[in-house]
Amino acid sequence: MELSRPSTVDEAVAALGNGAVALAGGTELVPLLRDGLVRADRVVHLADAVPRGIDGTRIGAGTTLAELEVDPQIPSALREACRLAASPQLRSMGTIGGNLLQATRCWYWRLEFPCRLHGGDRCHAAEGVHREHAFFASDFCASAHPSDPAAALVALGGMLRTDRRELPVAELYRLPTEDDRSTTTLAPGELILELDVPAPEASVYLKAMDRRRWSFPIVGVAVARAADGVRIALAGAAPIPWAIASEADLDGATPLPGTAYKLDVARALVRRALAEV
Ligand SMILES: Cc1cc2nc3c(=O)[nH]c(=O)nc-3n(C[C@H](O)[C@H](O)[C@H](O)COP(=O)(O)OP(=O)(O)OC[C@H]3O[C@@H](n4cnc5c(N)ncnc54)[C@H](O)[C@@H]3O)c2cc1C
Ligand code: SF4
Repeated sequence: MELSRPSTVDEAVAALGNGAVALAGGTELVPLLRDGLVRADRVVHLADAVPRGIDGTRIGAGTTLAELEVDPQIPSALREACRLAASPQLRSMGTIGGNLLQATRCWYWRLEFPCRLHGGDRCHAAEGVHREHAFFASDFCASAHPSDPAAALVALGGMLRTDRRELPVAELYRLPTEDDRSTTTLAPGELILELDVPAPEASVYLKAMDRRRWSFPIVGVAVARAADGVRIALAGAAPIPWAIASEADLDGATPLPGTAYKLDVARALVRRALAEV
């Protein structure tokens, strides 16, 4: 396998054609390459090409979660979502760009069951063990989006700049369908360069976990209050970060038998988060 280390965005985009994949901190990509879930002839290391650092509301995609969790310019919900993610070692290597693009933690997918997200015609989790899975939008694929920062960014109304467009973070994601099994709208070879996160009046991120540290969200709840109202987004709830308008929207959830308990957890966290902001 070839490793390239371009020094500009243009060089990185040019290097990404023909079976090459982008590498940031590698905490997600390297295990996927090792396990054969991602195959590539070339790995394009982004460290010298993609911006890193925080400047007011702007965050380079190469900024690590460890840098975000301690910076006072970052809204509380995003700081806390980063602080509660993974482990200190992973947060020191893992970037915000890579975090938003991490693959599902569904173990059927990770063990290469021929499920719908792998192009097959069954959701093995819905039929099998699915305690960690979705309680919204689970009819095609029941995976639960694992990113804490993604939910925080959706609630905060964050924007993304790529090498070819600007879009709300919420529009980075799509529900997988029969015709298109991907969970993001990113085009092949498209690079996330920067985020712009407007400062809210108040924001909070609360996370229920199986352990108090180093655990993906059972449910994560991000709430942000801004001049135009309150926004709520959930992690661990649907195959993508899931926005709801109010606690009442939880009545419309469609849990699987094994994920009904998550709804009680979500309800409690949404109430607490709304009270906090
Ligand atoms: C054991 C473990 C526990 C974890 N727990 C949590 C948790 O509790 N909560 C949570 O939110 N996350 C958790 N994570 C995920 C972790 O935060 C991510 O692995 C990390 O942030 C990914 O960043 P990276 O820079 O290492 O990405 P990489 O591994 O380098 O890349 C990940 C993906 O993003 C793509 N990519 C990276 N940067 C860009 C870019 N700028 N533009 C386009 N594509 C890009 C890569 O091609 C790849 O597909 C956990 C991970 C592990 C391994
Ligand atoms: S939840 Fe999604 S990723 Fe997991 S088995 Fe079902 S289709 Fe595959």
